[in-house]
Amino acid sequence: MTSSRPVTTIGANWALLPDGWHQNVRIGVDAGGYVSSLGSTADGPVDQSAHVVIPGMVNIHSHAFQRKLVGRTQRFTKPGDDFWSWRTKMYADVAELTPSGQFECAASLYAEMLQNGYTTVAEFQYAHGATSRRDLENPALMSEALIQASIATGMRTLLLPVLYQQAGFGNQPASKDQKPFVLDTDIFLGLVDHLTKATKAEPLISIGYAPHSLRAVAYDALKAVLDHRVSNAPASPVHIHVSEQVREVTECMLGTGMRPIEWLFSHFNVDSKWCLIHSTHATQAELEAIIQAKATVGLCPTTEGDLGDGAFPCAEFLKKGGQFAIGTDSNVCVSPSEELRFIDYQARILSRKRNAFQFDGQYSAATRLYQKALEGGRMATSLPVGRIEIGSCADFVELREDHHLCQNKSADEVLTTYVYSAGKDLVGKVFVSGILVMESRN
Ligand SMILES: [Zn+2]
Repeated sequence: MTSSRPVTTIGANWALLPDGWHQNVRIGVDAGGYVSSLGSTADGPVDQSAHVVIPGMVNIHSHAFQRKLVGRTQRFTKPGDDFWSWRTKMYADVAELTPSGQFECAASLYAEMLQNGYTTVAEFQYAHGATSRRDLENPALMSEALIQASIATGMRTLLLPVLYQQAGFGNQPASKDQKPFVLDTDIFLGLVDHLTKATKAEPLISIGYAPHSLRAVAYDALKAVLDHRVSNAPASPVHIHVSEQVREVTECMLGTGMRPIEWLFSHFNVDSKWCLIHSTHATQAELEAIIQAKATVGLCPTTEGDLGDGAFPCAEFLKKGGQFAIGTDSNVCVSPSEELRFIDYQARILSRKRNAFQFDGQYSAATRLYQKALEGGRMATSLPVGRIEIGSCADFVELREDHHLCQNKSADEVLTTYVYSAGKDLVGKVFVSGILVMESRN
């Protein structure tokens, strides 16, 4: 971290506000780290000057420990290599994970995320380790290691302790490899209560609910989790993996007679604080249900590509009024620019058009996709992030003017250059709660 106190004013040559680009913006920050005023740089001096200032991106889905798999799982082993064979390798890493290993992995990962432009991460934490290792009888240790990593790096974190209980639909018992994930429902709810209480005074940390998936959590346990939310924290986010794999959809249909998203909506009240991670194989009717509920789809394009999951019809979904956020999931890639580029290129390849999303022509597709991912991230974390506006968290990323690709370019063209080409090379100062947590001038 480069400083520990919030700045009071930032002068931006350009700033991306909710209604678009503005020039010479003086952003005031209060002692709590929130935006307190928006004016002109002509109004007075500033603590920090910056070129193009955009809201820091929200990473809606991360499993920190999986960062260690990068480079070890991209080699051919058999013709049928897919998500399920990748998962076997991931299980081997979890078996070795300790709280200190979790901390080290997350601390370096969160620093990388900040360098790339993420300022909030939703950490989907299911490596509890509690039931398989005699030295880890406290299931909070692994979550607490993540909290410490967030505080050490200055990364805003929505910590999502995960409930995982079975190997598949029809109450299949968890396998030996899955034991580090498994918690009894009451212990899980006790963990949520403990973490909520322990982080109450910590401004960077909030807690939500994360039933892992319908294959890992049966009806009764899911109901207990959602009942607990209604009683204790009804505005809390709920995140769940759903419809990532064709095999998962088929097994759900065999076990329940319905597709996963169809089953979820017919049994529970899915609201606007839900984030449906992947939703890759949703039908039109399921997509309509998600849009009606104002829920967010959490897309993780580089992981979905790495694992060969399939392609989500994002352009079509947005045209119908759908909302998405982006996540790094397995952390094979930790760059928001790459996730957004992947979404756009996937849509262009499928439609064979250069402007697959057909946004208005006022700003580039990069700016529009960036804004939409921010809004989805704000809704699905239930946090006041993703906007430069009074009352929102002062979480900003500066895109530099001294890069050779940014000479004589408008702010819209600089953000476009960041998304389609230069990525983190353009990231200069990074602020979380108004605190300068990262600065790059290489
Ligand atoms: Zn995931």
